[in-house]
Amino acid sequence: MLMNPVARTMRPEDIRRLLLDLVAIPSVSPHADNERAVVRYLRDRLAFLPCFQEHPEDLMLLPVEGDQLGRELLFALVRAPVTTADTVIMTGHIDVVDVRVCGPLAPLAFDAVAYTDAIGTMQMPASARRDLESGQWLFGRGVADMKCGVAVATTVLEDLARNPAQLQSNVAVLFVPDEENSSLGMLGAVRLLARLQDEGLRYLAIINTEPSIGIGDSMEDLASVYTGSAGKINPFFYCVGREAHLGEYYEGFNAAVLTTWLNLLLEGDPALADRAGGEALTPSARFPITATSPAPSCQASCWTTSAVWLCWPSAGP
Ligand SMILES: [Zn+2]
Repeated sequence: MLMNPVARTMRPEDIRRLLLDLVAIPSVSPHADNERAVVRYLRDRLAFLPCFQEHPEDLMLLPVEGDQLGRELLFALVRAPVTTADTVIMTGHIDVVDVRVCGPLAPLAFDAVAYTDAIGTMQMPASARRDLESGQWLFGRGVADMKCGVAVATTVLEDLARNPAQLQSNVAVLFVPDEENSSLGMLGAVRLLARLQDEGLRYLAIINTEPSIGIGDSMEDLASVYTGSAGKINPFFYCVGREAHLGEYYEGFNAAVLTTWLNLLLEGDPALADRAGGEALTPSARFPITATSPAPSCQASCWTTSAVWLCWPSAGP
């Protein structure tokens, strides 16, 4: 995560401190206690604001509907001084992916300062090493994706809550769990947003504070802003064949043939990508194949495959 954008905001040191605190909570999804710990930490922090002491009903820590793990989402609404339905929402997820990819540094992954100090000993692409040596970047699990966005949104909301005179619309933050897993947090939040809309809020914009992926070296190139969003569908294919010993190959039908055929048909074909506004969205791509058989050992090298699950995520407008 590049720190310069933080420096352009109102309270860079506060944002950095909050970011380090959020990263220190290992909210690897799904982990009910730790994901709850992040939203409760943010709720407790926002509860100090005078507007939420006056109107505690505008600071909502709510169970995620349909989540058997009992996780929670946070919605905090700062109202404009002149009553209005207009509302801008800043949103983000508070969970992260696991740290296996961090290898021997995994025990440090939730301490962003220590991780940044240590990571120079590891192999990394030249561009990443340039970033590290510039001293302008912070490394660690969840720093970029996306506790920095959560920290910025929280701090912006706090500043607006303390100086609401210029506010012409309401401003809210919405923080959800489980984005890196099954998106139960945002799916549950949709019902909340619909209810609040029925009760009178009008949404002008929703700003997702996820990191952006820019192309280029300069700050301007890297600081991309996306308008709109791309959805995703995950079609699953269950390819069933009939396993056979290689000595009797034609007694069976190798399910791997089906998956290969599907790969050739679907993988990366731009004609299958959705299009919007003259642009093609991400083409379909295959998730790793999981063979249901055979088991390792002799069977793996002597028997054809009986069945295979496949999944192709595809973007949609
Ligand atoms: Zn993310």
